[in-house]
Amino acid sequence: MIVVMKNGSTQQQIDHVVKLVREMNLKEHVIVGEERTVVAVIGNDRFKDRSVLETCDGVDKVVPILAAYKMASREVKKERSVIPLMAQRMNGNSPTIGGRKVGVIAGPCSVESRAQITEIAHMMKEAGAIGLRGGAFKPRTNPYSFQGLAVEGLKYLAEARDRTGLAIVTEVMSIDQVEACCEYADVLQIGARNMQNFNLLNKVGETRKAVMLKRGMSATLEEFLLAAEYIMARGNQNVILCERGIRTFEDYVRNTLPLAIVPELHRVSHLPVVVDPSHGTGKSYLVESMCKAAVACGADGLLVEVHADPEHALTDGAQSLTPQQFAEMMSSVKRVAQAVDREI
Ligand code: PEP
Ligand code: MN
Repeated sequence: MIVVMKNGSTQQQIDHVVKLVREMNLKEHVIVGEERTVVAVIGNDRFKDRSVLETCDGVDKVVPILAAYKMASREVKKERSVIPLMAQRMNGNSPTIGGRKVGVIAGPCSVESRAQITEIAHMMKEAGAIGLRGGAFKPRTNPYSFQGLAVEGLKYLAEARDRTGLAIVTEVMSIDQVEACCEYADVLQIGARNMQNFNLLNKVGETRKAVMLKRGMSATLEEFLLAAEYIMARGNQNVILCERGIRTFEDYVRNTLPLAIVPELHRVSHLPVVVDPSHGTGKSYLVESMCKAAVACGADGLLVEVHADPEHALTDGAQSLTPQQFAEMMSSVKRVAQAVDREI
């Protein structure tokens, strides 16, 4: 970091800053300018508390140079990460997210029945998906709404994997669900509402499953990457970031989908980025366009809600594509992928 002193700061104030820097086990390089003095702090200050210096008398501002996150950052790993979705089950032969291929994970918002999930799994496989999504544990705003089939739903998902080979992506809402989700699923989804549930992040960090971390609806990019850092700091490097839209003043959509985060995340992090245009818009008729836009701006994958009968879906019907719409979307996104040197 660089500590910029105020115009007219005294030698005593500068000395005090230097003393604090040394107490942090860091070195200083004081640059005296014509108008201001700047104290460049030398050493790994990533885990030091900047605010101590920010509040010192005579300090104008403190400018961080290193990102607060480390394992998730490109400073530490230059090449893009490729995350296997089913490493433990498929031994080197797993579908992946990251790299040249855009991976599509599709399926219903919630697992509703064995027949529903089996039927849709075959259709998603046929249309070119590599993963099957479906919530068995649902984070619902209203406690009286359908809460998911829990372990029964996980079993239906596992059966669908056995029949199709699709990787199973499902949300884990709490620490006590981690074990069951690890047993039946391949990718643990951390929902937007849990992005900063640090105990849960630590817990999935102790597993070796791929984790799809959704961005919190009011989280900044830095908070998003610090949440990924929690998982990685516990030893699990298999993190996939998922942009699913944020809350803004805008109300013609359920959430606002800020696609600029895709190239920005690629700039500062090596982790793959998936875009979820279903939650990102809330409207099925907007999903295809945003899938195309996401792939055009470099997304490594898509997470798409699909339901055989959206009007009667138990959750998120309004944003769910029909299987036919999904197949059409896949063929038009393929052309966009080719245009940007990717494949699906
Ligand atoms: C979901 O994927 O169905 C879901 C609940 O997503 P989010 O956490 O992004 O709202
Ligand atoms: Mn949903």
